[in-house]
Amino acid sequence: MPNIIQLLPDHVANQIAAGEVVQRPASAVKELLENSVDAGATEITLVIKEAGKSLIQVIDNGKGMSEVDIRLAFERHATSKISNAEDLFRIRTKGFRGEALASIAAVSQVEVVTKQEDEEVGRILKIEGSEVKACEPASAETGTNLMVKNLFFNIPARRNFLKSDSVEFKHVIDEFEHVALAHPDIHFILIHNQSEIMNLPEGNTRQRIQGIFGKKYNERLVPVEEYTDVVAVNGFVVKPEYAKKTRGDQFFFVNDRFVKNSYLHHAVSAAFEDLIPHGVHPGYFLFLEIEPHRIDVNIHPTKTEIKFDDEKAIYAILRSSIKHSLGQFNISPTLDFENEVNFNAPPIQKGQSIPKPTIQIDPNFNPFENEGFNTPKKNAPTRDFPIQKAGGQFQWTDLESHETSKPAVEEKNSEVCIQLNKTYILSPLKSGMAIIHQQRAHERILFEEYINMLDGGNAASQQLLFPLNLSFSPSDAPIILNHLDDLQILGFDIEPFGQAGVVVQGIPIHMKESEIEPSLERIIEDAKNHRDEFKNTPREQIAKNLAKSSAIKVGTPLEKEEMLHIIHQLFACSMPFMGINAKPTIVHIEGDELEKRFG
Ligand code: ADP
Ligand code: MG
Repeated sequence: MPNIIQLLPDHVANQIAAGEVVQRPASAVKELLENSVDAGATEITLVIKEAGKSLIQVIDNGKGMSEVDIRLAFERHATSKISNAEDLFRIRTKGFRGEALASIAAVSQVEVVTKQEDEEVGRILKIEGSEVKACEPASAETGTNLMVKNLFFNIPARRNFLKSDSVEFKHVIDEFEHVALAHPDIHFILIHNQSEIMNLPEGNTRQRIQGIFGKKYNERLVPVEEYTDVVAVNGFVVKPEYAKKTRGDQFFFVNDRFVKNSYLHHAVSAAFEDLIPHGVHPGYFLFLEIEPHRIDVNIHPTKTEIKFDDEKAIYAILRSSIKHSLGQFNISPTLDFENEVNFNAPPIQKGQSIPKPTIQIDPNFNPFENEGFNTPKKNAPTRDFPIQKAGGQFQWTDLESHETSKPAVEEKNSEVCIQLNKTYILSPLKSGMAIIHQQRAHERILFEEYINMLDGGNAASQQLLFPLNLSFSPSDAPIILNHLDDLQILGFDIEPFGQAGVVVQGIPIHMKESEIEPSLERIIEDAKNHRDEFKNTPREQIAKNLAKSSAIKVGTPLEKEEMLHIIHQLFACSMPFMGINAKPTIVHIEGDELEKRFG
């Protein structure tokens, strides 16, 4: 029998190893940025093209590589960072496996120009699919300039597997943010397809967070600081009222390395218990320092997973230090989240006037005609909606095909209405009475008004005294920038500003200034949470979100005139019974029901 086992050639072994380290452009970005950090750079520029598919370039002013080093750097298991097994327990650098450059060079065309400080000339090395093509002297700045071109050029299957540029770019940004957050003392620049996306000068952590996520974060952050023998914790949590439905603002760093750990996440969530409702995630930027020998980062090649010796103690310390901070900064658990409150927009205060909804009223519409309530206007969206009857049963009624209960406002008494619990408007009907949910009703009114505007023209706008500049994270910005036209139709006087911002000069007439930012944030959150819905019916989603932001909230006392206005406008809507969240706006208690009850 012939021997059949053979050693794989190096380039094949490297390609296989590369599969573990380099899954997509973002993984190469992470490795290269970390190498530059390890090289002691104080300025790092990341230049990418086509989300990193055609070019990833990292330029640093770190210590550079000598002639021998540069050749070794691309060998597998070649590292300057550890030399024996004990070193593994003292690791302070990002890299230590010596696999990244070898893996990257196995699946792309790499060009490195590098020079050490005490050298006159540097050198250039070109390597393609693990094969060295050139290595010669070259003029160079101190530091390293490394270009990765055409990732997976020699593995078409992997290349085809890459997602769209926008998806890959999002992953690149994530990695860039992780490294930039962990190292606010380093100046980072990100350039994509020749435009500067982020420029983050050296600063402290608070400034770095603002640099990445926008100035608005300054007031949202609550500092956390705790030093114990087991772990030192510092960083920030985001105030509970800014907690989001989407995950994404959760950052843990252990010894300056971004990690994911659901156990630690749980500790933070536990500290926020009672402060935020279920299904909403606390935001945090937390930096843990732990003796390297107490952790094992070696359990996953890309090293975002982590294991601790002392998990329980760390959990307890984390939870209590965050609770302490929240307490110290007077964030007490008194908010009532049972109601459908909008976390971002404060409810209208007592005494504050409520802007009058100004829906276009159909002059021929007669709310006292039974038919008027149940016949949707042409083109109105038709779908089933629930009418909640007293007694708690839902009756699903298709507006188009069924005759249904036909509440009609009592003619003589139509001017009678009272507010209950600052939430409901009670109004007598010809038969029985209607209980109207004030917030849902107003949302429905505004929603239809906005849809009408989007269908046919411009809304009135109120000019701001001082224009407002808003900036978004680079991944969020396109959501707003792509819909500026619709926002303008709805009454926003809004223009793009810089790479990822807008300047707002005017707003829809119903909107209060304090709602501008929350309403745009709400649109962004919604677009991220309900991707498909947003993609299919963007205008409807924008209208819904603006309606939610501007509507009168539960808890707002209403004058009689305001209540009547809501009733009349609601019944002028094409779908008066259904709230924009598909929940009922009106509960109709029929006369029979009352008779029965009084039996
Ligand atoms: P590791 O980071 O795990 O050591 P890499 O394959 O990422 O492995 O890098 C191999 C070696 O190349 C590093 O140990 C370092 O000595 C050198 N190196 C890589 N990138 C740089 C850089 N930007 N500046 C200086 N040296 C670098
Ligand atoms: Mg490395």
